[in-house]
Amino acid sequence: MTSTLESTPEADRTVREVGIAIIGSGFAGLGMAVTLTQRGESDFVVLERAGDVGGTWRDNTYPGAACDVQSNLYSFSFAPNPDWPRSYSEQPEIQAYLRGIADRFDVRRHCVFDADVTSARWDDDARRWLVTTTAGEFRARVLVSAAGALADPTYPDIRGLDSFAGTVMHSARWDHEHDLGGERVAVIGTGASAIQVVPAIQPVVDSVTVYQRTPAWVVPRTDHPVKPAMRRLYRFVPGLQRAVRAMLYLFREFLVIGMAKNRRFLKPVGKLARAHLHRQVRDPKLRKALTPDYTIGCKRILISNDYFPAVAAPNAELVTAGIAEVRPHSIVATDGVERPTDTIVLATGFHVTDLPIAEKICGRDGRTLAGVWSEGMVSNRSATVAGFPNLFLLVGPNVGVGHTSMVYMIESQVAYVDDALRTMDAEGLAVLETTTEAQDAYRALIAEKSKGTVWLAGGCASWYLDKHGHNTTLWPDFTFRFRKLTKKLDRENYVGVPAGAPSEHSEVAA
Ligand code: NAP
Repeated sequence: MTSTLESTPEADRTVREVGIAIIGSGFAGLGMAVTLTQRGESDFVVLERAGDVGGTWRDNTYPGAACDVQSNLYSFSFAPNPDWPRSYSEQPEIQAYLRGIADRFDVRRHCVFDADVTSARWDDDARRWLVTTTAGEFRARVLVSAAGALADPTYPDIRGLDSFAGTVMHSARWDHEHDLGGERVAVIGTGASAIQVVPAIQPVVDSVTVYQRTPAWVVPRTDHPVKPAMRRLYRFVPGLQRAVRAMLYLFREFLVIGMAKNRRFLKPVGKLARAHLHRQVRDPKLRKALTPDYTIGCKRILISNDYFPAVAAPNAELVTAGIAEVRPHSIVATDGVERPTDTIVLATGFHVTDLPIAEKICGRDGRTLAGVWSEGMVSNRSATVAGFPNLFLLVGPNVGVGHTSMVYMIESQVAYVDDALRTMDAEGLAVLETTTEAQDAYRALIAEKSKGTVWLAGGCASWYLDKHGHNTTLWPDFTFRFRKLTKKLDRENYVGVPAGAPSEHSEVAA
């Protein structure tokens, strides 16, 4: 099998044969690519819709963008970085890290940039995925979707928003050409993105109005620069950085006890958040408006030292009345107050429970993944779906985490997919497909683990739950349990069709 990677116009008219097509080059796509490269697999492409690697860390360049997990943990275990300048890195450092990974592990030569996947169809006769992109067509034995869950922004359905005459930008699609200096800016949303945008822009704008639908629990951010001596130590004693990473990991896993097992253990975290608010906001009315009425942890716990002071600043206003309508030069709240506005920042999140990539992937019987998931995302071990042979999902259903590093989960998933690929090679399988029984069992496991957790019973609405109130996004347990569950391919839950065997998949059991 050959893979022609030159992106010449002539090549674009031909269908390129590849062993594995990976969609996306964020942490997940890069992690998969590095793993393949490390074991000598070179017959793969990484289809990237943008012009560079990085995924969500390439796209989220809004002022103040930073990670709320310490970099010693929020990085690949196989590529520690002794040079992180701060304990919690900002977006440019994380993006530089990912670019460095692509270079160091020679992944770029597999990347096809500006290749937006418009459809991926399983051809049961050919036993191949036919992947159509804006940079040409690919026929792949295996498709790995690493398109990400925080990839496609959600634009709210607010009356009149289209009629706004000023600038509207989503936090994930920041317009750096637009100068906010001296403007009256409205920020819609109070999630992880908003609480970073607001303090970053508040000092330069004329006024900032924060439209809050639901207040967030916010705890202090224990961020600090990493001293050069410490960086040297990390460089020469890598075991030390590994030990710090392990400690951070364990500390964060303790939160799962409170979130998923016994709510009592969340009490100290709630106290910390209340004390933080009390210390930073003196005005009792504003304090009340910023106090959530749901259990801490139900939504993502946010970390910030400068959000509350920014909202309490003289040029800031917190609006808790809903938005009635947007007019060409103003926003009208449901209490009737109209506020003149120059720019609207939509910090309104992403399509997480309705992943847009799912609309583009078509399985054996012609149904899209989105169609199969219309009543909620289902999978076996968060990685495979019945009816979608040779398809593997990274950062798909029930793999999200609110308390720790997503990179840990991604590495668990990559190991699982890699074991599946090795199994296919070892057994000479043309097709590997999970069973509906395995999928049902996994759904039941997730439902059982989710019962009584703060995400389901914490009294809030969040993107962790789908429209039916089911947890289809989060892994509702300790992350080491996910790692154990996905350490090896659960071969008994798959049907495999050897190369050369008849196409009727259902007749060939494992
Ligand atoms: P988000 O958590 O989904 O927050 C969206 C915000 O917009 C919420 O406050 C939501 O209110 C509000 N909203 C949505 N639609 C609205 C509407 N029609 N009218 C008024 N308000 C509306 O999105 P995000 O802040 O972009 O964060 C998404 C995820 O990205 C995070 O959970 C996190 O996993 C990740 N992230 C991480 C970092 C970090 O590491 N520091 C930074 C940014 C993002 P409700 O709460 O009422 O729904």
